[in-house]
Amino acid sequence: MATSITVKLPNGVEYEQPTGLFINNEFVPSAKGETIKVVNPSTEEELAQVHAADASDIDKAVKAARTAFNTVWKNYSVDEISRLLYKLADLFERDLELLSAIEAADSGKPKAQNAAGDVEGAIQLFRYFAGWADKRSGTICENDKNTLAYVVHEPHGVCGQIIPWNYPIGMASWKIGPAIAAGNVIVLKLAENTPLSMLYVGKLIAEAGFPPGVINIVNGYGSVAGSALCTHPDVDKIAFTGSTATGKLIMKMCADTLKNITLECGGKSPLLVFDDCNFEEAVKWAHIGIMSNMGQICSATSRIYVQDTIYDKFVEALKEHTIKTSKVGDVFDDSVFQGPQVSALQQKRVLSYIEKGKSEGARVVLGGNAITGKGYFIEPTIFADVDDSMTVMREEIFGPVVCISKFKTEEEAITRANDTTYGLGSAVFSENNSRCLRVARAIRAGSVWVNCDNTASPRVPFGGFGMSGIGTELGTYGLDIYSVKKAITVNIGVKL
Ligand code: NAD
Repeated sequence: MATSITVKLPNGVEYEQPTGLFINNEFVPSAKGETIKVVNPSTEEELAQVHAADASDIDKAVKAARTAFNTVWKNYSVDEISRLLYKLADLFERDLELLSAIEAADSGKPKAQNAAGDVEGAIQLFRYFAGWADKRSGTICENDKNTLAYVVHEPHGVCGQIIPWNYPIGMASWKIGPAIAAGNVIVLKLAENTPLSMLYVGKLIAEAGFPPGVINIVNGYGSVAGSALCTHPDVDKIAFTGSTATGKLIMKMCADTLKNITLECGGKSPLLVFDDCNFEEAVKWAHIGIMSNMGQICSATSRIYVQDTIYDKFVEALKEHTIKTSKVGDVFDDSVFQGPQVSALQQKRVLSYIEKGKSEGARVVLGGNAITGKGYFIEPTIFADVDDSMTVMREEIFGPVVCISKFKTEEEAITRANDTTYGLGSAVFSENNSRCLRVARAIRAGSVWVNCDNTASPRVPFGGFGMSGIGTELGTYGLDIYSVKKAITVNIGVKL
């Protein structure tokens, strides 16, 4: 099969889509000619067939990365690395329209209201980490007078990176930016059903001037290509974003070769609305916190706890605001807020949770059904009076479905917010600053948003407690996970 095809997007734009495995700056076919069908979730039509890597393809990509690391890459200065990341950001900016359109068609993100923001976020992120590439520094340790001890930050080497389908460009940029800034080389495995935008980015990586083998991008099934990357003896680190179930598997697979790991997994994040909040703001942010990206956000605030004094008013206001704001439909219509779920499987999974919520007695305030016709669309759904023991309140649904419940006291709200095995995101709404600061400290979550929800910035770290994962991405902490701290002790005075 060819390694590129002409694709015509639903907005009429035609472009050359790479479909091969991006290894050594070239698109090559998979060894056995295996392919994966990529479907437009809005229309259920095929967009492309892309090559699927097996273990031998992964080995080829790892060898390319290792060779680059041991030869050309180690001679690159920090200025040159920085310039490459800036250049990549510039190319993303040049191709913003096309990248957003590919992302919209492939993953069902409304182009204007969602996909474009992901591309802009990646541009900002590459520039942020480009800025760090030439500012990395270790430390000098105060030791004894006879030694000079200092610490240098060495790259791990070959980083295997595995990303999910909910933010193909977003999650890839979170992985590529800091890893490259810290001097590593990469084999990035895409989520099998949303590979198109990042395969296109392969072209931009070559155009930016990255040496062959520094960034390799492969598509393939998790159980085949993903596991081959995790078990490969010459991969030094695995950085994974995806479900908690897969995160557990990856941790086990990495154990044999004792790989350094970062796991960004799932969540069931709480949002607390106190009666002293700015009510309109709380309603608007609550909507963004769960309904953005079709609810397919790991840190989506999917459990809303509202103080009893404003509970009924809040439920009604969130319903009205959602009806007004969550326009569902054509992802190429600029006024559309919500597209389809990413796949038939995800649509089925979310609908089965909705049915479970209904059967367990949660009150449907809004939605609760699939939208008939082509595409994997689901109505934005609000459940109220949800009991903490119900499945919909405990498990990650990963769809436009929110559960609301009422509380009386601050202490109760905190206890119930923390009643989860996850600990990724959270939000607090109150105009009482002392309360906000108190609650923010008491919530066991990697991110607490106060009077806002799910804001993201490359400068602000992101990670979680418990089943939400291991390690922190973004910010200086996110740079830190991509290096090993090497201590060098020099004898400057002791004679034996
Ligand atoms: P997933 O775990 O099914 O897949 C994620 C990636 O892992 C894909 O590339 C997949 O091919 C790969 N994979 C699957 N099985 C594998 C295996 N056995 N070995 C190696 N790789 C394997 O998750 P998903 O359904 O694609 O994504 C949704 C999940 O991602 C949600 O749970 C969400 O919360 C989570 N997520 C977390 C974050 C975060 O930063 N914490 C961000 C986005 C998404």
